Amino acid sequence: MICLNCGNRYKGNFCPHCGQSAKTKRLRLSEMMKNSIAPFLGGDNRFVRSCRDLFVRPGIMARNYLVGKRMRYYHPLQLYVYLLTAYAVISYVLGVSGSFFDDMTTLDFQTDVEPSKYASVDFILEQVTKITSNKLYGTIAVALLSVVPYRWVFRKCKVERQDGEAFALNHIEQFYTQLYHSCISLGLSILMLPVCLIPDSEDFLSSVFYAITFAYIIILYRQLTGIKWWKSALLCLAGWLLTILLLVLIMFLVIVPIGVMEDMSGR
Ligand SMILES: [Zn+2]
Repeated sequence: MICLNCGNRYKGNFCPHCGQSAKTKRLRLSEMMKNSIAPFLGGDNRFVRSCRDLFVRPGIMARNYLVGKRMRYYHPLQLYVYLLTAYAVISYVLGVSGSFFDDMTTLDFQTDVEPSKYASVDFILEQVTKITSNKLYGTIAVALLSVVPYRWVFRKCKVERQDGEAFALNHIEQFYTQLYHSCISLGLSILMLPVCLIPDSEDFLSSVFYAITFAYIIILYRQLTGIKWWKSALLCLAGWLLTILLLVLIMFLVIVPIGVMEDMSGR
């Protein structure tokens, strides 16, 4: 075979150099249907498997990916982008308030606030809630911010590889784990979208949402590192608290100088 992608000569079903299939055909209607739908549904079944395992056994899925079973699943960032797109489209179609596109238009900080209010704890907490509940940048921001606290909290919990070697997660592996959790929270948001249409359900739904997402991070780390339930719950709580603390600290460092500057220019 001569690879149509890179020109490599080889024997077998896939090019050992670039991975392209030996059965690469000319583009026709049948090929088009196969190529556009297969990556999502059929073919290697990766999409269905990734979505199912994300909810059924997220920690096993994350561990599989981290220890090297990379071909079985989507890259977590890829899965995240697919889910984000699905969320954007479905929330738009259903016309849910507080949807993806509302989030995008309410990106800016309130400008009608009294300058002295910038330094208040209430205002900062309000901004923290705004950031963390935003679907576009909030989930990814939380995943990024969680890396250092969770890395530190779980520094003694090891993940075992197939060759018997065990390792504590480094920062990047921790980020991938948090990305899986972001995918879960996005997936849950999608499942909850139709329920959002019921009037006055917002407060109840958001408590249910936070309870389930927190339960999922406990499950995720328990399955990933094989620790006991109570230990995973305690460590996740510590990691979560440290993350919120970090976010409040960052907001404080950003917002207070803005308030001081506005205060000075106002006088
Ligand atoms: Zn090739």
